[in-house]
Amino acid sequence: MEISEILRLDRAHVWHPCSQQKDHESLPPIPIERGEGVYLIDASGKRYIDGVSSWWVNLFGHSHPRLNRALAAQSEKIAHHIFAGFTHEPAVELSRRLCELAPGKLNKVFFTDNGSSAVEAAMKMSFQYWQQVGKPKKTKFLSLTEAYHGETVGALSVGGCDQYRSIYRPMLLEGFQAQGPDCFRCPYGLHRTTCQAQCFEHLEAILTEEAQNIAAVIIEPLIQGAAGMRIYPPLYLKKLRALCDRNQVHYIADEIAVGFGRTGRMFANEHAGVAPDLMCLSKGITGGYMPLAVVLATDEIYDAFYDDYQSQKAFLHSHSYSGNPLACAVAVEVLKIFEDEKILQTLPEKMTLFDDYAPRFEAHPHVGEFRRCGMVAAVEMVRQKADKTPYPWQERRGYQAYQKALGKGAVLRPLGNVLYFMPPLTTPFEVLEELLDIAFSVIDEVTAP
Ligand SMILES: *Cc1c(COP(=O)(O)O)cnc(C)c1O
Repeated sequence: MEISEILRLDRAHVWHPCSQQKDHESLPPIPIERGEGVYLIDASGKRYIDGVSSWWVNLFGHSHPRLNRALAAQSEKIAHHIFAGFTHEPAVELSRRLCELAPGKLNKVFFTDNGSSAVEAAMKMSFQYWQQVGKPKKTKFLSLTEAYHGETVGALSVGGCDQYRSIYRPMLLEGFQAQGPDCFRCPYGLHRTTCQAQCFEHLEAILTEEAQNIAAVIIEPLIQGAAGMRIYPPLYLKKLRALCDRNQVHYIADEIAVGFGRTGRMFANEHAGVAPDLMCLSKGITGGYMPLAVVLATDEIYDAFYDDYQSQKAFLHSHSYSGNPLACAVAVEVLKIFEDEKILQTLPEKMTLFDDYAPRFEAHPHVGEFRRCGMVAAVEMVRQKADKTPYPWQERRGYQAYQKALGKGAVLRPLGNVLYFMPPLTTPFEVLEELLDIAFSVIDEVTAP
């Protein structure tokens, strides 16, 4: 197909995610033909560094030989079969490995097929658990402002990003929302070195007051991604774990974005040395190959559902593609690559590059903060540096930077006034440098007076 024909048909028939379609009048979607390592290659042959891991899913680059082989090999056997009453080797192998890697006593794996549905399944598990252990009043969820847990109605109910949620408010479940951490504009005037996660008091106050009505707290550990890569300290998670224990409330960790090495450890909770009761994983789980998500649960939770059929305690949640064999086979290969190539050990050296670039970004008159956690970094552009005055969202500085970066061969999707880096973990050092240089130059351009 000619490029013009692809674009014509796209305009005629495709409704893209998270996009104002009218924007495509000035910047049409880019038809991607191939991927090669950390590069996306469009139909005209232009190459783009995939600085956002194709929406945070890619881990080891595109068209990875081992993942290609794992997918092809499984497709020769079977692509999909019903997962109720049947099982398969990739699913059990993946489950065994995930339980071994997961912190604490997470020992059972429930399969869904995208992050939002994993969040919904975890919420339903927690809710049903309390119904079945004689605490039927525990029906609500506590989440944070600026949280992101997906776009389906249940997941959106525990979200806190107004732009995705405001209009749907009448559809959403009622729950509790606590003021979340905001380290860049810390209301306590603390610095990362003096912080004792004082802001935890907001969550603590609500949870202590309402524990008898709360099934679970759900949060994104260490990084509130969609909020603009807001990074907060592990101590917050330690306090959360202790508080949940004291009050008989589940801790649901949404590691959909931060899991699989993004923070420098396999799972973000490891930085705090704590384990959740339920953990949602997706995105990186298949290295960006196939839609797949899981909820890991403790045996304690699982056991509350295990009984004679007539007890009606089963978890009857299901998705047509639950436990898809192609996806599971690729996910197993992802974990083998982590192991064989010692991926986590290769990260610290790359992470130091962010440290090296930090002073340069932070010296810029319109950069409020250059924040980083593991292999994730973000630059927050501000109109006034002294008092951290943001640019009005209507000016779309981040979007302008995104457009300019595309011209220079890099994909750097904006989150409001924030440009972030979440490159594939295997991005070579020089490519990371190039990505950071491109980011600096486009930020400079879009903030020029
Ligand atoms: C992306 C994301 C989700 C939703 O996952 P989808 O597969 O897009 O439905 C949920 N939580 C977090 C933290 C995410 O980053």
